Amino acid sequence: MNNRDILAVSCRGLTKTYGAGETQVQALRGVDLEVYPGELLMLVGPSGCGKTTLISVIAGILDADDGDCVLYGRNLRQCSRNEIVVYRGQNVGFVFQAFNLVPTLSAAENTAIPLLINGIKMAEALARAQERLREVGLGGRENALPTQLSGGQQQRVAIARALVHNPRLVVCDEPTSALDHQTGRRVMEALKSLAIRQDRATIIVTHDARIFEFADRIAHMDDGRILDIEANHKH
Ligand code: ADP
Ligand code: MG
Repeated sequence: MNNRDILAVSCRGLTKTYGAGETQVQALRGVDLEVYPGELLMLVGPSGCGKTTLISVIAGILDADDGDCVLYGRNLRQCSRNEIVVYRGQNVGFVFQAFNLVPTLSAAENTAIPLLINGIKMAEALARAQERLREVGLGGRENALPTQLSGGQQQRVAIARALVHNPRLVVCDEPTSALDHQTGRRVMEALKSLAIRQDRATIIVTHDARIFEFADRIAHMDDGRILDIEANHKH
């Protein structure tokens, strides 16, 4: 099979319940979702509807109770925990709402982390990190600590870090919600210019209607299910 024929993400019947008894919460109630290589899919829906749970399962951070999640032809359910950790380290990049930068590390050191996890030597990792930082418009700020950067700059460091190891799947959880409009657009432009490649897919969870225009498709989720998916015709 040609690589392009393989879906980036294929989820079938994913379920996930947290807790037990009266405090039980059914976060996913049978999610089917396909994401194509080269596309930017946004996932929207009310708070608590299961968005973070879904992308955590897709990214291999969290196990579903039932159902299948296949990333580029690899069924995570048939992998050991250890295989998932290695696969994720090589193939998945994350951007979180709260940036999650290590406060005692510089922008370049934070960005280099996924490369170090993959066994790249420090000097090369830092060189590649600096290149990514330039691509997100942070050339010259490589040695700054997170506290010395604005929110938008910190989020662009987080994007550089998520993409530094050329992952095939980029997953972002509300990456612009802590940012003002202008800064949010800058962050989306950085993400879009780096993340969109034919061999890559990007999923962005967002409440932020101001960035919908960047999506190829928008999946609407409620109460643990995907209700519908619309193509963005403005695009
Ligand atoms: P969203 O990202 O759409 O706001 P989440 O996936 O975070 O939704 O949560 C879906 C539901 O699962 C919510 O009711 C939330 O309270 C619950 N939930 C999420 N994580 C946990 C957890 N670790 N333990 C118990 N309940 C959780
Ligand atoms: Mg969430």
